[in-house]
Amino acid sequence: MPLPFFSCVRPLYPTPLIIDHAKDCFVFDENGNRYLDAYAGVASISVGHCRPEVVSRVKEQIDKVNHVSMLYQTRPILDYMDALQKELPDNLNRFFFVNSGSEAVDFACQSVRGFSKKPLLIAFSEGFHGGSFQAKSVTGLEAWQPVFGRDPDVVFFPSSACRSCPESGWNAKTKMISPLELHCDARCLDDLIEMMRKRREEIGGFIIEPILGVGGIITPPAGFFSRLSSECRVLRIPMVCDEVQSGFGRCGKTLFAFQRYDLHPDLVCIAKGIANGFPIGLIVGTKEISEAMSKKFHFSTFGGNPASCAAAIATLRVIEQENLQDNAENVGEWMLRRLDELFLKVPECLEIRGLGLMIGVEFSNPELAIKAVNECFHRGLLIGIGGRNRNVIRLEPPLTFTREMAEQCCRTLFESVKFALKI
Ligand code: PMP
Repeated sequence: MPLPFFSCVRPLYPTPLIIDHAKDCFVFDENGNRYLDAYAGVASISVGHCRPEVVSRVKEQIDKVNHVSMLYQTRPILDYMDALQKELPDNLNRFFFVNSGSEAVDFACQSVRGFSKKPLLIAFSEGFHGGSFQAKSVTGLEAWQPVFGRDPDVVFFPSSACRSCPESGWNAKTKMISPLELHCDARCLDDLIEMMRKRREEIGGFIIEPILGVGGIITPPAGFFSRLSSECRVLRIPMVCDEVQSGFGRCGKTLFAFQRYDLHPDLVCIAKGIANGFPIGLIVGTKEISEAMSKKFHFSTFGGNPASCAAAIATLRVIEQENLQDNAENVGEWMLRRLDELFLKVPECLEIRGLGLMIGVEFSNPELAIKAVNECFHRGLLIGIGGRNRNVIRLEPPLTFTREMAEQCCRTLFESVKFALKI
């Protein structure tokens, strides 16, 4: 019998997986079957499921007070701003707390437009920014755009496509594309930059994902963002970095992916991994942009919820204490090489790309990708899917993923693809 959800709810598997409990990188269904979780509730479990430090901090908080609204402050929200400020560039020093990534994007779009007093937003055709009307309106992937109606003041440009580009130096000896190792002048940005120069008087802001997650883990090379960022600075176009998926150590080495590139955002949208699965979203931005919102009211009843902020404090502390960004970097790098080794002679696998533990494996067709997702499930592994054509496998496990789990994940994916191809 179909479940009584709205028809846009699409469970990943034909037989729904009912999760009963979870621990670190494993989830368990109601029959006690164990699954290795390489999707982390869509890149949201940063420090492992039910991490004791997070659970105890939240329990302690909800025993004291669990909701006050934005009209008042609580210690967790104040402590959290202090802790996060230390990880951010000095100019990003204003905070607005919300409930989700979509709400953060919504607020960011209003703020940049308010600041620049210009309506036009530029976004990428492969970008995804959430489920509210505004977030859908800056989303380039057609399947995720609003059901009806449009924000007329958004223009889309394609992001990078390195495999088909002679500049990338991509060769058949590897399927791997490492964004920080590719050196190019990003000529693919010529048309976009020409348009930005021509229409600079209309442009209110640019919204980007440093790694385009739902779009299929697209990893623009470093030169792409250097060129884009310097042009935005010259033309004084404020930049919004949507780090909802790529943030919180997921991309390795630094807390945010923009810190690994030559990117200097004026606003950053944060959610997902910030509080290890507790609902919270956050916008951090410059003082100048925050002042642009001073003539309006903006409110979010649950924004800065003390229990979610307590979870965020504990999550940040564990990431820092255990250097989980470095683990993401090391295990992620190892996974890219292992996948490359395994899939090198599989022609249906087109490309392997990623940064840290945000990894995409692109296949020639969506049927193969979905068969592999289902077969992995039968073999006890949870993975995700993305891409405009839904032909990209997404591997985004908790940042506590070990080398052994990584091997199990890569091998199971490989065996599942071979099974789906009947080879
Ligand atoms: N931005 C990006 C880059 C995302 O990946 C997502 C969620 N997949 C969102 C925004 C929306 O976040 P939420 O689902 O928390 O509203």
